[in-house]
Amino acid sequence: MSKKILIIGSGIAGISSSLKLKSYGLEATIIDKGNFIGGRIGTREVKIRNKTYYFYHGAQFFNAKSDNFQKIIQNGVNKKYIQKYGSFSPPRYRGYESMRNFLMNLSQYLNIIQNAKVCHLIPYNDKISVIDNKSSIWQTYDGVISTPPAPQNIDLMKGFPTLKNTLKTASYDSCVALMFFFDKEPKNVPHFFDYYNKQGILSWMAAGSSLRFWTAHANATFSNKSLNKDRILVKNEILSEIKKIIYPFEENLKINFHSLQIWKYARVTKVSSGPQIDPKFPIAIAGDFMEGPNVESAFISGEKAADLIYKRLQ
Ligand SMILES: Cc1cc2nc3c(=O)[nH]c(=O)nc-3n(C[C@H](O)[C@H](O)[C@H](O)COP(=O)(O)OP(=O)(O)OC[C@H]3O[C@@H](n4cnc5c(N)ncnc54)[C@H](O)[C@@H]3O)c2cc1C
Repeated sequence: MSKKILIIGSGIAGISSSLKLKSYGLEATIIDKGNFIGGRIGTREVKIRNKTYYFYHGAQFFNAKSDNFQKIIQNGVNKKYIQKYGSFSPPRYRGYESMRNFLMNLSQYLNIIQNAKVCHLIPYNDKISVIDNKSSIWQTYDGVISTPPAPQNIDLMKGFPTLKNTLKTASYDSCVALMFFFDKEPKNVPHFFDYYNKQGILSWMAAGSSLRFWTAHANATFSNKSLNKDRILVKNEILSEIKKIIYPFEENLKINFHSLQIWKYARVTKVSSGPQIDPKFPIAIAGDFMEGPNVESAFISGEKAADLIYKRLQ
């Protein structure tokens, strides 16, 4: 069966949709507005004296409890682009040498276009017409899977009220991520700090690809309140909290600010309810908002959307 299929978003949901379609013999094109693959599995690269280091300012690790995702992870572990992270139960994993490397390996045979934002989707006969800001030409697809976070996805679904209604039922917390680095490798600082449901303004703070390069995630209460605050104030508040935590372990470390990333739609707090595919047109939605607030759920949701589109196109 030869069909022209578009997937919007090169996050894990977009990649898993495309892989599943490929397993049915269907090739898709993925279009993403960002510079890099991965969406909220964010990787920021720094080069110092010809060595490359990575901050993980989005997802820090992922679980693999479901069969299909476990197979993907085991394959990555065997091929050495995924590693076990720490000694947690259930096990946690990270991409190696970076989170981005995991996604690049997973998608190496997929057709992905970055830096192109899909602006409009409209029903057209029994198909979907799409325009993006890179090609600026309307193109018609036999099937579409749309994976941006629910509030951004809603903007694309004006012609598909059923999917719009499904998307409206999801909600998110924001997350402010502050990337920082030490002047030298710490000797006495643990690799991560978990503040989930504890007092203070942080929820998690951990080293990236090296013990010198760290990301601190502010908790939902602080992050939601910070969206419209002055960024310098937000940065200073988080930095002073980081210093309070680090200095009791090692007081002579220099803490250098790298950058701040504000994820407006970071963690799903309410999963969508409603159909995942339009009742009439060959368009489906996928992402964490359909299944749960993590990488593995987004992966599962992408596979489900691919199954629905495949059946619709039979
Ligand atoms: C700070 C933070 C920490 C997290 N920590 C963890 C963790 O430790 N473990 C875990 O399992 N999960 C974690 N998560 C959640 C996890 O990252 C997400 O659930 C998962 O990555 C979502 O994947 P997705 O494919 O559904 O969406 P996304 O990754 O958001 O992908 C959507 C893609 O769509 C693109 N896009 C949007 N609009 C358009 C458009 N109009 N045209 C083209 N492209 C478009 C975006 O650029 C993006 O790449 C964290 C999330 C955040 C933000």
